[in-house]
Amino acid sequence: MLPGGYLKKRLLRIQVGYLLSEGPGNAKEIPITFSQPVQVDDDLYLNSLDGSLMLTRAKDGILVQGALQVTHSRECDRCLESFTHRFGLDVAELYALRSNSGKSEFFIDSDGEIDLAPLLREEVLIEESYRAICKDGCRGLNAASGVNLNDLNDLNETGESRVVEDGLAIDPRMAVLKQLLS
Ligand SMILES: [Zn+2]
Repeated sequence: MLPGGYLKKRLLRIQVGYLLSEGPGNAKEIPITFSQPVQVDDDLYLNSLDGSLMLTRAKDGILVQGALQVTHSRECDRCLESFTHRFGLDVAELYALRSNSGKSEFFIDSDGEIDLAPLLREEVLIEESYRAICKDGCRGLNAASGVNLNDLNDLNETGESRVVEDGLAIDPRMAVLKQLLS
């Protein structure tokens, strides 16, 4: 659960029934703007979503095309801290008529709605499979001690980290010794 709550994934459903009845070739551009966190799946939330989608009535369904800017929280691959990751998403998918549901993994439901949630979920999971770091020059974790090197403002000349304790910088190996002795 996110602090401050989130928008329900119901809001990611778009009514396209009118485009179906207007016949092939008809199109409408829909702004997609969520500046609050929105739920995409039980365990997936986006911090924000912004852009627009062009919905075009095609022979087999509704073609959904456009570009979206997405932000979501993920773990840095180097230091493992959570950070807000921003990326662009190019969308080009057919939502098939039920009679043509074999033409796409996405389809128009019986209420004449399309649901962007499964599409967004898939795209975000693909994006998450790529490495991302929280900031340029993220120092990552010390291999031996697991200390987040970004939290240290003092690196010694060899680039080796020091654990800052009681205001004094000490070698991590010394820290282990100190623990054993106390
Ligand atoms: Zn990082």
